[in-house]
Amino acid sequence: MLVLGIEGTAHTVGVSIVDGDGEVLSNVFETYQEKEGIHPREAANHHSSKIVPLIREALEESNVGRDEVDLVAFSQGPGLGPCLRTVATAARSLSLSLDVPLVGVNHCIAHLEIGRLRTEAESPVLLYVSGGNTQIIAFTKGRYRVFGETLDIGLGNMLDKFGRDKGMNFPAGPVIEKKARGGDELLDLPYSVKGMDVEFSGIMTSALNLDEPLEDICYSIQETTFAMLTEVTERALAHTRKNEVLLGGGVVQNKRLQEMIEKMTEERGATSFVPEPEFCVDNPAMIAWTGYLMYDSGTSISVEESNIRQKFRTDEVEVTWRG
Ligand code: AMP
Ligand code: MG
Repeated sequence: MLVLGIEGTAHTVGVSIVDGDGEVLSNVFETYQEKEGIHPREAANHHSSKIVPLIREALEESNVGRDEVDLVAFSQGPGLGPCLRTVATAARSLSLSLDVPLVGVNHCIAHLEIGRLRTEAESPVLLYVSGGNTQIIAFTKGRYRVFGETLDIGLGNMLDKFGRDKGMNFPAGPVIEKKARGGDELLDLPYSVKGMDVEFSGIMTSALNLDEPLEDICYSIQETTFAMLTEVTERALAHTRKNEVLLGGGVVQNKRLQEMIEKMTEERGATSFVPEPEFCVDNPAMIAWTGYLMYDSGTSISVEESNIRQKFRTDEVEVTWRG
């Protein structure tokens, strides 16, 4: 079985072909480069100009003919309306013209499923930290449930906004990571954990108001926010009695975050897993693969049911593919 998957919830638009054995035959994507924060309509225009070439490229790279595609999967949400609509339109047209079924995939769950495919993690707690999202997700009682999340913005967006103010190029996360290596003084920033949830805007405001070397500020932002995430992840592990942490989202490429999570899991006798970078960031292979799992366990939707879901909650999805 060959699945064509399309991702397009935010900055990234892409197309992937995977087969039913989990072989990723192609995974091609492009990212809209923001200058002053993501502009949803401009990102959507970017996606609509790239989507047809990306479909061609994904098919060519995987050596799959159009008529060989058995299923079309797309990112149904959560995400930015204009981006989601662009991708949904492409997916519907493909499904109709190829006369194959259509599946709408929850983007957050797809991060977890691609991590399970690409690493040895079996039933992990997912720490998902991207531009727009920050969530701790785990499978319990038949659903993927959110155990903790940001109450304001995603950590990646916070880093990007802070960086923009300091004249760094987008994405600022990797620049901040580099600068942080030169810092050693832990400056006073709010530590915002509320129950199992976290908050980042206040930390950003405080960091922007600091008159200290940039290296120390970057170091302190990382130490503070990553400690918050590590704390909440540890509590999710304890609560769910799981012994695996899977990392997902662009921010988890950060070596310091990986190190802190690894240390925490080791101390608990648990294990942490990080997929390869191309499967950490938003990528279409995760949509294609989750689409396959859903379809294989009996889920597909009609074009009428394929409306986008900007606020698509992780725990709304009926998980038919896990025993
Ligand atoms: P995503 O939204 O999952 O595609 O990931 C993009 C986000 O990851 C952006 O906000 C980047 O700033 C952030 N990011 C990428 N690399 C790093 C890094 N090494 N450290 C921190 N954040 C990062
Ligand atoms: Mg994502």
